[in-house]
Amino acid sequence: MKIDKITSTPVWVGTRNQLLVKIDTDEGIYGWGESGLSGREKAVMGALDHFAEFLIGRNPMAIGALWQELYRSQYFEGGRVLLAAMSAIDLALYDIKGKALGVPVYELLGGAHRTHIPTFASTSAPPGEEMIEQAQSLMQAGWKAMRLSPAFHGSRQKHDGVYEPRESIPETAKWCVRAREELGDEVVLGIDYHHRLNVAETASFCHRMPTGTLDFLEEPIRDETPSAYQALRRMVDVPFAIGEEFASKWQFLPYIEGDLHQYNRIDVCNVGGLTEAMKVAGWSEAHYVDMMPHNPLGPICTAATIHFAAAVPNFSWLETRASPAESLGFDDQEIFPMQPKLDGAVYQVNDAPGLGVEVNEAALRKQEFRFWEAPHLKRPDGSVTNW
Ligand SMILES: [Mg+2]
Repeated sequence: MKIDKITSTPVWVGTRNQLLVKIDTDEGIYGWGESGLSGREKAVMGALDHFAEFLIGRNPMAIGALWQELYRSQYFEGGRVLLAAMSAIDLALYDIKGKALGVPVYELLGGAHRTHIPTFASTSAPPGEEMIEQAQSLMQAGWKAMRLSPAFHGSRQKHDGVYEPRESIPETAKWCVRAREELGDEVVLGIDYHHRLNVAETASFCHRMPTGTLDFLEEPIRDETPSAYQALRRMVDVPFAIGEEFASKWQFLPYIEGDLHQYNRIDVCNVGGLTEAMKVAGWSEAHYVDMMPHNPLGPICTAATIHFAAAVPNFSWLETRASPAESLGFDDQEIFPMQPKLDGAVYQVNDAPGLGVEVNEAALRKQEFRFWEAPHLKRPDGSVTNW
């Protein structure tokens, strides 16, 4: 079998673009992948065009060797654009291999450890009574783990385009404490600060809550400097959930070996696909760090992440954005007639060959790409801050 064609299709589905990649083979078997570098899809498509130049005609079953060649056969190796392109290729090759052998992808990764994949859901309402009501409805629907909303986040900023961490911190902390009181001790509660804070601000946030209020704190600060997390660890005692932006095992290296994070937010569409994700999972297992995969994209990302979650021992919860508390529209039924479906708060592990996703290409072609730019936030003094 040989790789015949690589097609990248960036399409707006629901509330964001999905960069879908199809690899055709000369035997009629094809595979689908998805790339996760949201907002920079055109850059990833350029990388995919370069890779296609030498992948056409190659054996799609040699996934590990092709990964090495994609990574190492360029002088300027690595980086988020190239790894996002490699991720989509890697997922599509696993889809092909599973279909060719008639097995689900998790069988290619060592077999399933579990019958179903527990998920965590996120509230969408800003901190307040409605956020707590959403959390209660999630608990009633079966969720045992969830992520609360930080104040003045995203479209819920206090002032248009202006984000002041010091306004968000007391409001968020107050409602996290209230949520713990209202929701009880058994539910797992976390929050994603989307790297909006610095080290001192994170400490201020955590110090406003009793220990045990939150079970995990996701991305309080940016990730470029692992030693900043070391400094933060000396100041706060909440487990950290980080890693969704990491591209390759080498970005995880200082975090895993430094025991800096407790939950691994790995993204199979950014880290380098399942090939790289399995290596990071094994390394994390040795440090007793559980995988809590990032999964904000489309059904192909979700399906690939379910196979990954099935095949690793050290797993906590898979992010789902298909809960009753959110409506993002990325799981369009016409475009994806076969896709993972939540069963209460879990995804069942099934035995469909490959990734188990079907794409209606005629419906896909009707969708357009939309240039989307993450909000460019400023502090009240006019300086640039993180989105
Ligand atoms: Mg996050």
